[in-house]
Amino acid sequence: MQQRTARVERPLTYAVPDGMQLGIGDVVRVPLGPRELYGYAISAPRDTASPPPGTREIAERVSGPRAFDEAALALARWMAERYCCSLGEALGAVVFAAAIPRVVDRFAVVARPDPARFPNVPPRLIRLIDDVFEDGFALDALLRHPEARRAGDRRTLLAAVNALQRGGAIERRRTFVAPRIVEAREKFLTATGRELRGPRVRALVDAVSQSGSLRRADALLAGFSHAIVARAIREGALAETTERAPRARTASARDEAVFDATEEQQGAIDAIARAVATGRFAEILVQGVTGSGKTFVYLRAIADAIERGGRAIVLVPEISLTPQTARRFESRFGARVAVLHSGLSERERFDGWQAAARGEIDVVVGARSALFAPLPNVRLIVIDEAHERSYKQDGVPRYDTLDVAREKMRLAHGVLVLGSATPPLDAYERARRGAIAHVRLDGRATSLPLPQVHVVDLAAEFERGNKRIFSTRLVEALGLRLERGEKSVLFINRRGSASFMLCRACGVVPECARCSISLSVHRDEGLLRCHLCDAQRPVPARCPACGAGPIREFGVGTERVVETAQTLFPKARIVRMDSDTTTRVGDHARLLDEFAERGDILVGTQMVAKGLDFPTVTLAGVVAADIGLHAPDFRAAERTFDLITQVAGRSGRARAGEAIVQTYAPGHPAIVFAARHDYDGFAAQELEERRALGYPPFAELIYLGTIGRHEPDVAAAAARYAELLRGLGGVDVLGPAPYPIPRVNDEWRYRIAVKAADAGEARRFIRETLAPLAAADRAVRLAVNVDP
Ligand SMILES: [Zn+2]
Ligand SMILES: [Zn+2]
Repeated sequence: MQQRTARVERPLTYAVPDGMQLGIGDVVRVPLGPRELYGYAISAPRDTASPPPGTREIAERVSGPRAFDEAALALARWMAERYCCSLGEALGAVVFAAAIPRVVDRFAVVARPDPARFPNVPPRLIRLIDDVFEDGFALDALLRHPEARRAGDRRTLLAAVNALQRGGAIERRRTFVAPRIVEAREKFLTATGRELRGPRVRALVDAVSQSGSLRRADALLAGFSHAIVARAIREGALAETTERAPRARTASARDEAVFDATEEQQGAIDAIARAVATGRFAEILVQGVTGSGKTFVYLRAIADAIERGGRAIVLVPEISLTPQTARRFESRFGARVAVLHSGLSERERFDGWQAAARGEIDVVVGARSALFAPLPNVRLIVIDEAHERSYKQDGVPRYDTLDVAREKMRLAHGVLVLGSATPPLDAYERARRGAIAHVRLDGRATSLPLPQVHVVDLAAEFERGNKRIFSTRLVEALGLRLERGEKSVLFINRRGSASFMLCRACGVVPECARCSISLSVHRDEGLLRCHLCDAQRPVPARCPACGAGPIREFGVGTERVVETAQTLFPKARIVRMDSDTTTRVGDHARLLDEFAERGDILVGTQMVAKGLDFPTVTLAGVVAADIGLHAPDFRAAERTFDLITQVAGRSGRARAGEAIVQTYAPGHPAIVFAARHDYDGFAAQELEERRALGYPPFAELIYLGTIGRHEPDVAAAAARYAELLRGLGGVDVLGPAPYPIPRVNDEWRYRIAVKAADAGEARRFIRETLAPLAAADRAVRLAVNVDP
């Protein structure tokens, strides 16, 4: 038995009541102290004539599918060990949250609150409880209600709820909310033939009769209101039925089978198929230049694995950024594919999850967490764009999707395929020494050459008197594209208009009060914003320190690039895509459609570097390639190389294209090799450097962070842990030192780096000794990051 909320791992033992069937992964309700909790069974019941005294009984086995099976449990155990977290935390990543029952506290209204008895409770709140929540409420629902928010701020409301509870008007009751295990159902409308008056309702009835049967959701989408639909049903013109949702999607006219594979592609398809056929674990690196048709290879290899009775998982960095890829899988595998993406509601994702568990699905396509879909008999996992950092999970457990996928296939004797134009260096290194298979796709499927990359030295440009953020070459190239009616993509690795403000009189840079970084300027909103904690305040007209003005802005962000481009080309239609313009689900798709239909220039952050495939883009510009190059991170060069390669790859996918890279460091290897499309040259040099410095992949690296409000405590805890680690032997312990950004969200952060050829011993020590020590410390948290 596992207690889900435990900070330190402590499996608990319970007695199984007579007649209860219990297996691994079953969800159970159990008593713990005076409370009841949900947990998972992590071992099969053992027959013991007399359980230890004081052993309590399981209260209930929750009906419904189990939370995980033996294979998933084995994977979670491996993750706990590998990433120095508890088994409960590892299971938190493996299990689909919506499948687990929740404990919800609700308030029941015991007696109508008398405003005279509660002078401190806003009358508006009492009316709200009377009118809307008379059947009881969850605290959250009440606090979120607009009427409640008009009655007072959160503190006032909490105090009011407290007063009502103490005065006996309401009572807190605990309820258990089980997941709804049902088939996905949808409402359909059909016409009865009866006619109604009124233009809107007639239009609705016409639309329904024309399509025979129309989903209610589609009717709403087409602009008919709930009221109109309800009226048509009430007055007998439409009938509504609830049916099982068809999993079938509209199959696209584009059948992948009609395309012929190139020789290189066929070689890759055969290599994967042969590996799947052996029934043994294998890992294959597919290194293919941008535009070489890797997705086509995956589609064929997966079709082959399915023919052999297996199933497949395809991981992509972020589906909303690569809708075109997802659509190709849907059109190839139709109803047998589930695409799990962040645009779906939790309920819809749960439907896909359950369909996978029932065996109705052959292929799951999704981001990171789709790796844990309960798909039986997975023979093949494909990780596309395997170099992407989004495969590394930020929160606990801080797992690396590539490593977990590898272990999953090792346990299941399946095949892992890593695909990339710029493979992660550790996979490349293993491929080079023959530890894993290596397949290369060096030709573009369209046989167009890779775009020519020009490097522009910004320092020289400045000396010649050009103080704009666009070099002369970039301006000319943009002008040429506009003339020819072709599209351009401009990449800048920072949002906002400027990176910081600086007072030229006293040198003060406005910083975040809670984090040790400068505030970024967002001219559109007239705000200074912290990109770490999102604190904000108005852009000051004069220096807050000395009163001088005006105060200057430095550095470049997306807003500033749009502004400059618009000034240079007043008629150009410019689309901006960054995390400020894509806050809602569907924003990505909308902006991409806008760019495809009528945009001339797309300006954006990392989002525009990924997977975009627009045939008429013939110019890709990196506005400032240096941002990130000098970050205090041993992967800074690798990331810069990846980004330039990805951005350049957006250009010339159907017509010859070019790329322009602006930089203050034109001689940096990451830039020189990227401009030559020479991944192998870059990798050879970078690997040599990593070997000399003892960095991954030649050693394991673990970062241990200590985090807390009070700096001396944080530093002291870090020093103590470092001392303990040094006692281990066989490991290099560096630090402690403050993080590159030492304060975030009003908390101080110190870091210890542990390097070792084999860090197994260090991981065990962290799990068994340091973690319990840190759990007992109320002032300082420990954050462990394995393979950072
Ligand atoms: Zn000043
Ligand atoms: Zn901040």
